[in-house]
Amino acid sequence: MKQIQVTQSSMPDYDTFCEEIKVLWDNRWLTNMGDKHEQLEMQLEQYLNTPNVTLFSNGHLALEYAIAAFNLSGEVITSPFTFASTTHAIVRNGLTPVFGDINPHNYTLQTDTLESLITEKTSAIIPVHVYGNICNVKEIERIAKKYNLKVIYDAAHAFGISVDEQGVANFGDASMFSFHATKVFHTIEGGALTFADNSMKRVINSYKNFGITGPGTVEYIGGNAKMNEFQAAMGLCNLKIIDQEIEKRKRVFERYIDHLGDTKGIKLSIPPDGVSSNYAYFPIVFDGYTLSRNEVYEQLKKHNIYSRKYFYPLTNNLQCYEGRFTSESTPVANFIANRVLTLPLYADLQLEEVDKICSVIKANVPIYK
Ligand SMILES: *Cc1c(COP(=O)(O)O)cnc(C)c1O
Repeated sequence: MKQIQVTQSSMPDYDTFCEEIKVLWDNRWLTNMGDKHEQLEMQLEQYLNTPNVTLFSNGHLALEYAIAAFNLSGEVITSPFTFASTTHAIVRNGLTPVFGDINPHNYTLQTDTLESLITEKTSAIIPVHVYGNICNVKEIERIAKKYNLKVIYDAAHAFGISVDEQGVANFGDASMFSFHATKVFHTIEGGALTFADNSMKRVINSYKNFGITGPGTVEYIGGNAKMNEFQAAMGLCNLKIIDQEIEKRKRVFERYIDHLGDTKGIKLSIPPDGVSSNYAYFPIVFDGYTLSRNEVYEQLKKHNIYSRKYFYPLTNNLQCYEGRFTSESTPVANFIANRVLTLPLYADLQLEEVDKICSVIKANVPIYK
């Protein structure tokens, strides 16, 4: 029986990719901000409609180095309903994550309780546009201004999304995008930082290259997180097909809604009016359904269909943080993490496969007449 994985990487046309990388055999410039790297930065500035894009070897290091480059200190308010990367980036900089709860509507950071978490040690907020659901950016901006805090968005899931015609890359002081192979747009491994303040370009660019600012001059204690030319070439090819890929994802997404939209006890995440989605994930939350999240997960597995408990556990419940952080102060996040499942979603997933997945999910629902 054919397996259906939760995701499948987009691939550009093979010949297009070969054509794109051919020149590298001639010029032998394989990394360190070569021609492909520079082209991709420029094209992404256009695509994301944002003034500053700096590429990185992956999304995690983009976030980790952004925290360093913005010189954050003390405490950082963030969401535990995310991938380990967001919390690790804060802790690995020697800072303390302060976990805010998420709202039960779109699972992004609650803003009505945000101010109560701010202390004199707070330097920043790192919210997450989880599943591509956009945070309450206006309210976060208002609070950040009032308390003089930086805002860096984990926008790993939000590539290419716009809200009322404004590109998501323009919110806050900076946004991190992941171009990992499993993301909507990818460079195999890769990532980027977008940021508002032009004067940050120098420091951000140098952080990914050992803090070097000129020949013989090392101004910052940077590291190495440069995107290489093969990654950038993959990005250039994938950018050519990104709109079609998103369109194909949309068909899958809508098919899921057709099947599951009116199912009692299953809650969907549907993009609100004014948001152009990238259809990155299809999370469903089981709340009052005849089966539990874990039961549905196992049922699907028996049919060779692999869904994902994403995000479970919460980052404040990860084993490496035992005794240090807890999820007691984030009850909504706990509730959702125990009930959420993301269903298979990728551009080439067939609609018949979506039909099958949904029939497995609904098979055990008793029919009352
Ligand atoms: C993928 C992801 C990251 C990390 O990105 P990489 O490119 O894999 O390093 C960070 N945060 C979230 C929410 C992610 O999904």
